[in-house]
Formats: sequence, structure tokens, C-alpha cells
Amino acid sequence: MLLGCRKMVGPISRLGLDREDPFATFGGVGSETDHLPLDPEERKLWRADVLVEKDREIARFTAWAQGMVRDASEAVVRRLGDRPAGWQVPLEADDTWLCRHVDAQERPAAATRLRLDQTRELNPGVATSAPRRWVECPDCGTHWRVWVGLRVAKPAVERVVTRDGDPPRRYRRAPVRDVDRIIDAVARELPDVGVVQWWGVWPADDEGLWYFDLPGVRERIQIESSEGACPFLVEHDGMRAGGGWTARTVGEAVRMVVDYLRGRQGRRAE
Ligand SMILES: [Zn+2]
Repeated sequence: MLLGCRKMVGPISRLGLDREDPFATFGGVGSETDHLPLDPEERKLWRADVLVEKDREIARFTAWAQGMVRDASEAVVRRLGDRPAGWQVPLEADDTWLCRHVDAQERPAAATRLRLDQTRELNPGVATSAPRRWVECPDCGTHWRVWVGLRVAKPAVERVVTRDGDPPRRYRRAPVRDVDRIIDAVARELPDVGVVQWWGVWPADDEGLWYFDLPGVRERIQIESSEGACPFLVEHDGMRAGGGWTARTVGEAVRMVVDYLRGRQGRRAE
């Protein structure tokens, strides 16, 4: 544990987090114990009788640091766990990447390895500085785009309604985000709803914008959040600029989208 703290001092200070809780704890423990022979390689250089004495000191420091380090570690996990993982997935050395899954009950399920040689050109015949390819995951239906030169893949979150309905899928893409739950809940109320994501040219582009539309309804409503997580900024075609609503929960976003599209649909029928 003490050695672990020592090894984290460098990376934490390079990230500029060395004075920030809970990371500061690891640095503090690391510097209090940097005189101790913790590293197995380093210990080979010490005399056996001195090591016996140092090991007593190590035991005292371990007892002193244990609770603090455990609390700080748990705080780091909570902090990083709350933060969505981002959308980009780097290609591995063998030109593959994993599409991660959960089952219908959101329990972890087998991931599917997708391969670059299964992909097709995204815009055949179109000259672009950012050539992309694409492939659909056979197990969850996710449309992945791949920037071959940058060795990055990125999933699209969309809902395409086909005449024959959606083919049944074994799994859902993981992690399941708020935007996935919103799309699912809206589709339960409005089975014909289509959802299109705004697509950037480069993988680092913020694509956290989704348009919902219904067949035969001209107006659209959009929800916006970089990570696809609440809160969402909600705007529709009838709004003045800057007049967006904020949806703080999945339920609020679903109500705004469904009520707006139903209202437009009703107007058309009048
Ligand atoms: Zn998949």
C-alpha cells in the first residue's frame, strides 16, 4: 500500500492534482514514507539487520496510513465512477475494439470484438480530410464510426425506424446512458419516433445533440448534453433563440419530448 502511494505521486502531480483531495492523501503518504525501503529492488541493497528495523517502521506507517488511504481510494472511485467514460474507444494494436454490452436487465454481458476489416467507407467517393469507416455491431445494433488514421472508434446513439420494425438484439450497448433511457422511454410512448444524433467530422467533436422527430410532423425537438447524461438542454423549432428548457431527469426529458411531439401531431390532425 505504501509503495502504491509512492508510485502514484508522479502521475498525480503530472495531472496537477497533487494538492486536490482526495489525491493529496496519496502524495502525503508517499512523502512521509519516502525514506523507507519499500521497493523490492531497493531492498536488495540494504543490510538484513537494518531491514528488520526498517520493517518495524514500515509496519507502523502502514497502520498509520491504512484508514486514510482506504478513504481516499474510495473517494477516487466515487469521483471517477460518477463521470461518464467519454465516447471514443481507441483501436487496439490488432485493429479491433470491443463493443461492450449489458443484457435487458442491465447486467454485464459478453462484449463483441469488432474488426477494422469488417468496416465500410462512410462517405464513398467524397473527398474529406477526415476519412471514416463504419460497421454495425451484430449483437446490439450500434452504428460505430472509425477514424482509421487516428485509430479511434466512436458509437452513434440513434433510433432508426424501419418498416419491418427493429430486428431483435441480444444485448444493449454499455454503458447505458441517460440518453439511451430517454430514447427508450419516448419510443414506448411514440413507437414511430426517429432519433438522429448530430455527427461531427472529427472524433473529438462534441456530438451530444439528438433530434427527435415523428413521421408527418415537420417540427423537431432536440436534447443536448455532451456526455448524454442529465441535465439536458431541450429546444424545439417553435422556440425563440435562447429559450431552452432544462431537463434535470430522464423523466423530465421524456415528458418534454413526448408532449411536444404529440402536440404537433395533434395540430396536424386538426
Ligand atoms: Zn454491440
